[in-house]
Amino acid sequence: MSNPLLESSDLPLFDRITPADVGPAIDILLARASEALETVTAPGFPAQWQAISAVLDVATEKLGTAWAAVNHLNSVADTPELRAAYNQVLPKVTEFWTNLGADERLYAKYKAIDPASLNKEQRAAWDHAMRGFVLSGAELQGAAKERFAQIQARSAELAQKFSENALDATDAFAYYATAEELDGVPADVQQAARAAAEAEGKPGFKLTLKMPCYLPVMQFARSSALREKLYHAYVTRASDQAEGEAKRFDNTEVMKEILALRKEEAQLLGYANFGEVSLVPKMADSPRQVVDFLRDLARRARPYAEKDVADLREFARKELDIADPQPWDWAFIGEKLKEARYSFSEQELKQYFPAPKVLAGLFKIVETLFEVSIRRDEAPVWNSSVEFYRIEREGQLVGQFYLDPAARKGKRGGAWMDDVRTRWLRPDTHQLQTPVAHLVCNFAAGVEGKPPLLTHDDVITLFHETGHGLHHMLTQVNDRDVSGIAGVEWDAVELPSQFMENFCWEWDVLKHMTAHVDTGEPLPRALYDKMIAAKNFQSGMQTLRQIEFALFDMLLHTEHSPADDFMPLLARVRSEVAVLPTTAYNRMAHTFSHIFAGGYAAGYYSYKWAEVLSADAYAAFEETVLPDGSPNPETGRKYRQSILEAGGSRPAMESFKAFRGREPQLDALLRHQGMAQA
Ligand SMILES: [Zn+2]
Repeated sequence: MSNPLLESSDLPLFDRITPADVGPAIDILLARASEALETVTAPGFPAQWQAISAVLDVATEKLGTAWAAVNHLNSVADTPELRAAYNQVLPKVTEFWTNLGADERLYAKYKAIDPASLNKEQRAAWDHAMRGFVLSGAELQGAAKERFAQIQARSAELAQKFSENALDATDAFAYYATAEELDGVPADVQQAARAAAEAEGKPGFKLTLKMPCYLPVMQFARSSALREKLYHAYVTRASDQAEGEAKRFDNTEVMKEILALRKEEAQLLGYANFGEVSLVPKMADSPRQVVDFLRDLARRARPYAEKDVADLREFARKELDIADPQPWDWAFIGEKLKEARYSFSEQELKQYFPAPKVLAGLFKIVETLFEVSIRRDEAPVWNSSVEFYRIEREGQLVGQFYLDPAARKGKRGGAWMDDVRTRWLRPDTHQLQTPVAHLVCNFAAGVEGKPPLLTHDDVITLFHETGHGLHHMLTQVNDRDVSGIAGVEWDAVELPSQFMENFCWEWDVLKHMTAHVDTGEPLPRALYDKMIAAKNFQSGMQTLRQIEFALFDMLLHTEHSPADDFMPLLARVRSEVAVLPTTAYNRMAHTFSHIFAGGYAAGYYSYKWAEVLSADAYAAFEETVLPDGSPNPETGRKYRQSILEAGGSRPAMESFKAFRGREPQLDALLRHQGMAQA
């Protein structure tokens, strides 16, 4: 019996993999990888990068690509049988990778490698591996090592508890509104609320704090009292300020303990605070640099944010008869102002973006900018709607990708890029393995025999994921662990993706990439102008809001002493940054899952950081645009060679400077978001 996950085929046999293949294949590959680990860590095995790689990396590559194929099918072609098979092996696979990253014998073997024997790419990969071991506590001894392990285990528990409290506090709230109270709320939201009440045999409309209900109520409900009720419940979730029974979900002590453990972990590793630890593998150098960056951006966005607020106040007074807006009024006023200023129908806009036209436009940009050609190719696929393409330069294969654009049953929502395999000069065969990527979206199907029509958000998503894909596929690095997106700093990895989004706002791009589904007419200029105006609506306020979160996060993990109450720090950050007043009972920090239960601790700044990088990189194209409006091929080549091709083989700052000739600047982002003097 042959198992498609074990066969040596060039591309995964997606059309043949069945749930029954998963367990047996992964067991065999795990056993081989463990055996390889034993081999390379044996006392007599040479401490040489190439020798270790030829045994260990070859085995983990086989495991990794097979697992990636299973994982992919689980995401895009889920069945109960596949899910069961997947869940059965998942813990084993996770455990293997965790143990590999903490294996002391492997660390000792790597440590014994003579750095002088490594080429530049191997050196980068080796540095990353060593850094990973050290941050996992590999250098610690005795009691310190034990304590470090305890901290890890307890931190995982606390993160889980934090999430549970946030979730339970959200779920615990319900308010049954009357039809009168819901005046202004969209009909579909009302229907869902009515159905929810009905399911419980209750009269009225069940309102909850979940986004699809909370957000439209805050934006559209005319009743200020109703908005206040929901606002109060929302901003006091999982805190001491919650009402009655809901107080039991208070996260305060959980947060304090998380912060204390992070500080202790940092000190065990030899750092002053957790902010420093978080930045070790990132592009930003120091907490000071991040804080300065955020404050600089805040200072420059401030006048625009103040103007946004002044506009809201004036509109509220004149048009809505709200003389003194309260915190629960801003979203409502904002929605009404947006409607008055920029109303255009998403439905109307969609008619200009048939999927084939958009795809052709995207491919043309990629081909021109990066001197490649893209054409259809053949591969086994999991669904007949999946397309497979190859990217070539001067007749040479550069990379390949699957494009799975359509939403369907059994496919996870959202959009993502994933790697099938990474570019790698294989140490076993000495052949070059070319990179292969997945580009996955969830676009609605076409109706009445027409092609699928994309919303403008869909188009941006497609460009974004393609940007990640190009980073992965256009790399010229030969070492697997630093080629493409592998090993790229976490706060720089969104540069190539967000960079591509910029094209979706260019008139010269859009007029060629649009064709009305019935008439074939390109996008009208008047509609385009409205899109651009709406894009930058309240960008000043939104920027300051993100900075408020990011600055609080970084100061919490650097200056703040975990034994102290963190609310005064939050109040201080708000008084420094925020333009909208808040209420004394606001406890938004208590549900800030990104930093307390996600991977964003002392890392929330990275959203803005990456936006600055991508905007500044794109500005190089704006500065060198050709007279006919098309991008300059010289700039495209430089961007490709400096940033995309280099992948994780050198620090992102070095790559950026190689492209731009200087460090990143804020100007382009501010200008793109309408925050610059005309
Ligand atoms: Zn992304």
